[in-house]
Amino acid sequence: MKDKLRKFMMGRYGIDALSRFIFALALILLVISRFYLRDFFYIISLMTILYGYYRIFSRNIDRRYRENNLYLAYMNKLKKLLHKQKYMFKQRKVYRIYSCPNCKQKIRVPKGKGKIMITCPKCRNEFIKRS
Ligand SMILES: [Zn+2]
Repeated sequence: MKDKLRKFMMGRYGIDALSRFIFALALILLVISRFYLRDFFYIISLMTILYGYYRIFSRNIDRRYRENNLYLAYMNKLKKLLHKQKYMFKQRKVYRIYSCPNCKQKIRVPKGKGKIMITCPKCRNEFIKRS
């Protein structure tokens, strides 16, 4: 049985990160289908699973490999973006961000210090803001 499976999988692509994502997505869709637009999400979920298997058994290894790389690059971008958002959110709690009216340089000042004179570090322009 195991041998048969190995023979069947010879020359076929197999599982990768994108496949795992596709199956996870199918599972989520299946759960959604239990609560909302039953038939619609059920069919979409089945199609997603079929597509997942299609990729695993595909003989076009090159193309599947490129798809997976694209997926990984996209996920990496998304991760970086989320990380940046989280960082900015933390910063906003402690700092206020102004942009210089003269050169548009972004300037970070600590919050809760009342009216302060801000000197732009780039063009030396001075302006008053409430922090
Ligand atoms: Zn400036």
